[in-house]
Amino acid sequence: MLVIDSGRPRNAPAAHAHGYLTRDGVAPAQLLAEGRAEVTGYGGEIVTGNVVAAERLDDGDFRVVLEDGPAVTAHRLLVTTGLVDELPDVPGVAERWGREVLHCPYCHGWEVRDQPVAVLATGPLSVHQALMWRQWSKDVTFFLHTAPEPGDEEYEQLAAREIAVVDGRVAGLEVTDDRLTGVTLEDGKVFPCRAAVVAPRFTARAGFLTTLGLEATEQKKDGHVIGSYVAADATGATAVPGVWVAGNVTNLTEQVVGAAGAGVRAGAALNEDLIAEETRRAVAARAGPGDRGRPYSSRTPWGTSRPQGAFPFAFGFAACRTGPPVAVTRTVRGLPRRRPAVRHGAFGPGHGLSRVLIMPSCFAWNVLYAWGPSSSGRV
Ligand SMILES: Cc1cc2nc3c(=O)[nH]c(=O)nc-3n(C[C@H](O)[C@H](O)[C@H](O)COP(=O)(O)OP(=O)(O)OC[C@H]3O[C@@H](n4cnc5c(N)ncnc54)[C@H](O)[C@@H]3O)c2cc1C
Repeated sequence: MLVIDSGRPRNAPAAHAHGYLTRDGVAPAQLLAEGRAEVTGYGGEIVTGNVVAAERLDDGDFRVVLEDGPAVTAHRLLVTTGLVDELPDVPGVAERWGREVLHCPYCHGWEVRDQPVAVLATGPLSVHQALMWRQWSKDVTFFLHTAPEPGDEEYEQLAAREIAVVDGRVAGLEVTDDRLTGVTLEDGKVFPCRAAVVAPRFTARAGFLTTLGLEATEQKKDGHVIGSYVAADATGATAVPGVWVAGNVTNLTEQVVGAAGAGVRAGAALNEDLIAEETRRAVAARAGPGDRGRPYSSRTPWGTSRPQGAFPFAFGFAACRTGPPVAVTRTVRGLPRRRPAVRHGAFGPGHGLSRVLIMPSCFAWNVLYAWGPSSSGRV
């Protein structure tokens, strides 16, 4: 198994992650480091790199190309590359993103409870966002900025929740001693606040999948486009056989624990698919010498001697191989074996069948799954 990860999870700008029971307040970088240690502890490989393209090979495998040159092949791909938060173009917003410029009350609400909160409206859903943040503070101001004028009913809701509405465009953020202190309008007026709320456009990181025929599609909420995602079924299977997705790349509102759960689901479905293929291959091999399976690729660019397959997959499971291969020559229910068989449960390095570990962890990762042929005695 090989993880290819550029190492920049979406919540990296935040000091702490919340909403993951038992891991509340953990630093995103620490969560990542612990997850990596668990994967390598079970024999998984992790490579820091940026995938720029993926393509289908003639034999049905995939080829995954990294930015700095090397490529790996894989039997299956699990893509968990997350999304890009496209922030409104307001000076100071990008710099303070994840610290005091926020979007999600489930992630940051507790920290800014009872503090003055400024909502920078950029679209029709901003009213809803203001109502969400109103649960955490009685001091919420709604800056119309670039959003369309709210309707009568929305004005009624804002008034009923005592949310002040300020007309005019926001020119920037006021920062004092490295703390957000206010919002400045184009006319120069400054409104004090401790947190600024924005609604980024959520864009799936999926450009490298276009060579596989997978395009991100627009996602709407209440009829308004909020971003793009890669469509998949409930298990994460995409329209391209052999390619799964999990986490924010396919579900824009998924949080860390949800991304982990999606990774578990996709991992299990993917492994089912591998089991089916391996079994089909084994049955065909028993039937005669005609089908010895398609050739597996041989080496990673990172020098392991293990034959490699490759796919990025969502965090939450790891596939590994255990134990040395054991050849047995007994008959099975009277059918003579044509060649030595690998005993059930003993799959060593180089033998295809994998075991799945469900790991109680957090975000989706990119994983390249190494799955190779046996050097001898493959059934
Ligand atoms: C500021 C902020 C704070 C947040 N706080 C919380 C919180 O407190 N609690 C919570 O539950 N959620 C929080 N979230 C949401 C959380 O970040 C996401 O739910 C979670 O990161 C989704 O996990 P994921 O695995 O899908 O994507 P990510 O965590 O973004 O992981 C994607 C990984 O893929 C890598 N990658 C991307 N493209 C490539 C490529 N081409 N090649 C190789 N690698 C690539 C990235 O470097 C990254 O490591 C927050 C979000 C933000 C923006």
